[in-house]
Amino acid sequence: MNLIFLGAPGSGKGTQAARISEWLNIPTLSTGDMLRGHIRQGTELGRQAKEHIDAGRLVPDELVVSMLKERLALPDMQNGLILDGFPRTLQQAEELDTFLQIDHVIHLEVPDEAIVWRMAGRRVCPDCGATYHTSWTGFSENCQKCGAKLITRNDDKPETVLNRISVYHKQTAPLIDFYKKQGKLVTIECDAKGTPEHISALIKKALQ
Ligand code: ADP
Repeated sequence: MNLIFLGAPGSGKGTQAARISEWLNIPTLSTGDMLRGHIRQGTELGRQAKEHIDAGRLVPDELVVSMLKERLALPDMQNGLILDGFPRTLQQAEELDTFLQIDHVIHLEVPDEAIVWRMAGRRVCPDCGATYHTSWTGFSENCQKCGAKLITRNDDKPETVLNRISVYHKQTAPLIDFYKKQGKLVTIECDAKGTPEHISALIKKALQ
């Protein structure tokens, strides 16, 4: 099964993709994580992507599409996967249709106010990529998986967050209609109080 997780920045795509990926026993591919990997390794793609990411803009389609295509060609991606954060523009979605058959698109619908709150409290592990929120019970400044000191992503700073939300509405939200027309859209309403467990249960039910 090939799934897409679609939603605004901070909608919980990454968290839910990880949970559903474990449940279905298929890998997740996050274009955001891949791009941050390139930045850490200092590749040419990382250098080009960094200025866009730090400004809260999207990385140009051709760079992201060729990075994804290369990754999908590897053998571990042949038996189903979850795409987290891709596609993010109509052009990416149209290109994706030429090389991967998608079964369902899980759209996590979150009000903008909740997004700002979520991203202000988001902390990530710079070493293993795990994500936390400062409001979680038991929150510690160190990663619970590998112990590294957690950081706030550069693009989670408040001024950049507002820009990312506006980019989402302009460039990514049109995909909701695109996939609705294809009959693949599953919308999950995530109100501010929905715990990650509750949202996962809704997604599992929708997929069964
Ligand atoms: P979030 O879901 O919180 O926005 P991501 O880790 O998915 O975070 O993405 C971080 C940044 O990486 C985006 O703001 C964008 O600049 C870049 N990026 C990730 N995926 C794509 C994509 N499919 N197309 C263009 N840019 C992307």
